[in-house]
Amino acid sequence: MSGFDSSSETSRRHWPDARGRYGAFGGRFVPETLMYALDELERAYRESQSDPVFQAALADYQKHYTGRPTPLYFARRFTEHLGGAKVYFKREDLAHTGAHKINNALGQCLLAKRMGKRRVIAETGAGQHGVATATAAALLGLDCDVYMGTEDIERQKLNVFRMRLLGARVISVDSGSKTLKDAINEALRDWVASVGDTHYVLGTVHGPHPFPMICRDFQSVIGREAREQILDMEGCLPDVLIACVGGGSNAIGLFHEFLDEADVAMIGVEAGGTALTPGMHAARFAGGAFGMLHGALSYVLQDEYGQIGDTHSVSAGLDYASVGPEHAWLFQSGRVQYVYAMDQEALDAFQLCSRLEGILPALESAHALAHTTKLAPMLPRDKVIIVNMSGRGDKDVQQAMRFILPEEGDQP
Ligand SMILES: *Cc1c(COP(=O)(O)O)cnc(C)c1O
Repeated sequence: MSGFDSSSETSRRHWPDARGRYGAFGGRFVPETLMYALDELERAYRESQSDPVFQAALADYQKHYTGRPTPLYFARRFTEHLGGAKVYFKREDLAHTGAHKINNALGQCLLAKRMGKRRVIAETGAGQHGVATATAAALLGLDCDVYMGTEDIERQKLNVFRMRLLGARVISVDSGSKTLKDAINEALRDWVASVGDTHYVLGTVHGPHPFPMICRDFQSVIGREAREQILDMEGCLPDVLIACVGGGSNAIGLFHEFLDEADVAMIGVEAGGTALTPGMHAARFAGGAFGMLHGALSYVLQDEYGQIGDTHSVSAGLDYASVGPEHAWLFQSGRVQYVYAMDQEALDAFQLCSRLEGILPALESAHALAHTTKLAPMLPRDKVIIVNMSGRGDKDVQQAMRFILPEEGDQP
């Protein structure tokens, strides 16, 4: 396991440092009352990492409940259509609840149990992390409250109902823009007052240290499996890894295992939205700047006064004004390349993958696929790309219907 040896300068896999920094990024910028909670969490997490009983329980749930390992799938028709590098999908869409988010939610809820907490809280935007947390809480018998902006509650009625079916309480947040950013603020506020018996399950690799590290480590199972699987299927490491980047958890989950492999290129794909003008996208590296949001230093979409900017993406999971601090560091150091795909490109890739492979990708994952359709044709046929299929697209069918009018039997 990784995360704590900050003495090694040679490996990128040993970050963050003792202060929770990834170079100039990350850290812990929270009210004094939360410092104790974050210290306690970091301590408990370290202990759990070397506790064979905890690790065995996690592995057991991953295997029998989540359905891990998820397959690595050679997308033959998709590859042939593009006419270049071989494209493999890492099938996180086949994990229980249909996305990678369960990896983190399950890990953190197990950690909450170990810490003797009886209640978990979470924030959610589109509802995917809320559903994953409500699921893990039901499994482990924890009370669960999910903060969600009233705007999002209105847009995501199905996921709200799902969370309630799973026994969670959905608490509406009516402040600010009434979306994810405000839900995170409210969850942090709750945690200040409830930390004695409550754990905050943060949904991506953002927030104050140690959250980005904990979430990354629980998601890194994706890359560890992918390495074994590709060695088994191709006899070599992949040439390129591609993943979409919202907060960045599915991407770092795939990348982390390979960070020290100089020959493995990595590409994170952000949401280009409808245009790269303020308010129309969520491409933090293309349009953002150094700044702070939700307790961490990173890249942030903001105006000249540091006010957090509005964002847009056809996919709710990529629609966030900041990005995990480890990605900011990987961007600055040049280890990972960050690009963006536009709404329309993602919708096109969504249809192409559905028709050629019989797999409806999440619109988030479709951003990674969109970039793959540009890159694969430019590479020779013996090169290998792994795309992280972060989630399934069933949740996005209604959204897609607003933009796509499929014709019967229409071939790409
Ligand atoms: C939430 C979500 C994302 C974006 O979150 P990351 O933390 O960047 O992974 C991507 N894909 C799916 C399917 C999601 O549900």
